[in-house]
Amino acid sequence: MTDHAFVAHNPETKPFRDAAAQGKLLVPRCRHCGRHHWYPRAICPFCMSTDLEWLEASGKGEIYSFSVMRVAKPPYAIAYVTLDEGPRMMTNIVDADFDALRIGQKVVVTFVESEPGLPAPFFRPA
Ligand SMILES: [Zn+2]
Repeated sequence: MTDHAFVAHNPETKPFRDAAAQGKLLVPRCRHCGRHHWYPRAICPFCMSTDLEWLEASGKGEIYSFSVMRVAKPPYAIAYVTLDEGPRMMTNIVDADFDALRIGQKVVVTFVESEPGLPAPFFRPA
């Protein structure tokens, strides 16, 4: 599994973490083919270019699929969210009525600090 909700703590992801601390979602974009991708990586998954940049995303997206973990205490929801910019992120849905979640629901990013200095981009209903 290379796709996950947490962004590794390493020098390559420092721009992401710095922006997240200010509530901004940065997503890598390829300068060669112009496509955004997620999870952050050193090489564009579409054209193999290494000419990448971090761009601020709108933070808006919609639920592509989700699963509510009801046996967990407290229950939580894992989802794939498709960003308006195109990439799909594995994430958690928070601040939501899990019984009311649906595919295609509009959501917005909210950062949850999973460990000190390691903000995870989660989503809540828009
Ligand atoms: Zn590319």
